[in-house]
Amino acid sequence: MSEMNQPCHNCGTAPLRRAPGYENFFRVTSDCKPWPTGGQMGLCEACGLVQAVTDSRWENESREIYTRYDIYHQSGGIEQTVFNPATGKGRARSDAIVEGLTQTAKLPERGRLLDIGCGNGAFLRACSRSLAGWTFCGSEFDTRHRATVEAIPGVERLYSGSLAEIPGEFDVISLIHVLEHIPAPTTFLKQVVTKLKPGGWLLVEVPDCCINPFFLLVADHASHFSPGSLSTVVGGAGFEVLQAGDAWVAKEISLLARKPVGAAPAIPVCPPAQAEQTYNHWKFLNESIAKAKALASGGTLGIFGTSIGATWLDAQLTNVAAFFVDEDPHRVGKQHEGRPIHAVKDIPAGAIVFIVLPPALAQRIAERLRPIRPDVNFVTP
Ligand SMILES: [Zn+2]
Repeated sequence: MSEMNQPCHNCGTAPLRRAPGYENFFRVTSDCKPWPTGGQMGLCEACGLVQAVTDSRWENESREIYTRYDIYHQSGGIEQTVFNPATGKGRARSDAIVEGLTQTAKLPERGRLLDIGCGNGAFLRACSRSLAGWTFCGSEFDTRHRATVEAIPGVERLYSGSLAEIPGEFDVISLIHVLEHIPAPTTFLKQVVTKLKPGGWLLVEVPDCCINPFFLLVADHASHFSPGSLSTVVGGAGFEVLQAGDAWVAKEISLLARKPVGAAPAIPVCPPAQAEQTYNHWKFLNESIAKAKALASGGTLGIFGTSIGATWLDAQLTNVAAFFVDEDPHRVGKQHEGRPIHAVKDIPAGAIVFIVLPPALAQRIAERLRPIRPDVNFVTP
């Protein structure tokens, strides 16, 4: 099959509607390191999934990225802090997801949970703290974190083979930032469902690419999900989708589904408006480049943030930023791409700071910071 006719990796429909000029964008790895240009992105008009063209070049790049993978390297191995929009309180991302799961699913006193793609056990550790009567298994493609994961209270074992080799059935299976990496996710979930008890829960956490345009730049993500396309993918594997949205963690989709006890319900259809909004983010990315170029010619430029958008724009503008700005105390005082990460109070007077975040969020941050640092020009995309 020629590369231009590459079909949707999920439903097999061809051709994809390609995003023109995407191949000229620098990209970022999911562990937030710059990655070269040359990717391909498109929309499947049949199932609504915005996706990378997962050809052999993409497969080779992804393999190379995982070989060098360095989870949470920016904060010295500490999991990302997320902020509850209602209370403003910060906590580890895994704790926010476990709280959402336990409150919504009303889990019993005892049960068994499998975390697929468990990494160093951040999510299992949060589960272990709040599900005292439960036992846990992790699965991961390598065994480098085996000792760490198996030391978590309640963990039976870390498995590194295929799903079919894991003994028994589970009450909950979680996929935390895993499904977006896997081509043909519905096919994969059809294996996952066989490991769940009838009525068992599936928890999926992925980036919300409908809200955040910068997630389209992650080189090793096969799928750029919206809540609608994720629901289609999960429903297509025979699950009943109960909710999919960003109520638990901002900028992420938390999806909760059940393995039906009887017949599987109808597969949810991705709203076309969500598919179009997600796909059209490539236009916003072009506009952000143009805006940043104009700013860079006007004075000392800093970039607010040290994650995907910030890392991407800095690479796209050939490292034009003099410094980065972050409010996460784990990152302040360190370096990003060889330049300093300042706290807001340490931004040089008179500097221009481009807030490389989704527009609504960037706007809120700018409004909060302008009174604190009136001598800094905060600009939003
Ligand atoms: Zn499709």
